[in-house]
Amino acid sequence: MIQLPVRASTAGLVASILVLAAAPTARADTAKVDKAFLETQNAATDSILQAGSSSLGSPTAALEVAHRLLVHRENALVALGKRLPLTTFNGIETQDRFDRHVVETLHKALTTAVAGDTTLPPQSEAVAFNQALPMVPALGDKPVAFMVVGMAEASLVAADSLIARREVPAPDAAELSLRLMHYATNTYMQAQEDPLTQAKAETMREGSVVLRMRCPKDGGIYKVVQEKNKIHENGSLSHIYWLNCTECGAAQSIEFPMKLATRLNQAGARQILEKTPKGKQPDDGLKP
Ligand SMILES: [Zn+2]
Repeated sequence: MIQLPVRASTAGLVASILVLAAAPTARADTAKVDKAFLETQNAATDSILQAGSSSLGSPTAALEVAHRLLVHRENALVALGKRLPLTTFNGIETQDRFDRHVVETLHKALTTAVAGDTTLPPQSEAVAFNQALPMVPALGDKPVAFMVVGMAEASLVAADSLIARREVPAPDAAELSLRLMHYATNTYMQAQEDPLTQAKAETMREGSVVLRMRCPKDGGIYKVVQEKNKIHENGSLSHIYWLNCTECGAAQSIEFPMKLATRLNQAGARQILEKTPKGKQPDDGLKP
């Protein structure tokens, strides 16, 4: 398991913030996301939902909307990769913000689609659906958006394969697929609901960013040599990771803003100092 530097309790959170006295002052890179990409592609994502919104009552039509959203996401990321490699900090941060929007949009569509669905397809069809489902990593309760997209893609593959083989009636296959996708998007949305779970989900995401980064020189993966929290003059806080390439040893440091901790700190919250857990390799389950 990844060790969460942000503790489960508010007291722990503030305590971990106050380990700042020991934090080095070295500069770290904060992400420069591709704002033009996000603006264009988020709007295109919204348009797909808007165009399909009147047909979401039909499972097969709703499945088609989900399909269009995921194809759009795939194409957009190919385009992004040409501007900004998806193995760089800026590329990954841009992808994650886009994926968050895709998952939120998909969730809106799916919530409408499954709202009127009160009948359950027969057990035998559910079994056939599970058998047709490609293997995907477990989501856990605080998934990163790209993991939710992976689950949604897998459930589309399962539905398409059952429909193509005429094993299950198309509306039933669509219903089963929509339900699994909705479970995935709902898990994501729930983790974003309150600031504390959101802060923990963000820490999981940070770990997954490190796992997806590759050294530009040799494609090597990075290991975390140190992680610390940093307080800025305006009272805002951020989480910094110092990384080394496992191939050539090149050093890189990346910085993530901590929204909840910043709010608590700026509100003047103060607690007794505690030690923050030391940086470890992030969880294998977060690997892309
Ligand atoms: Zn390297």
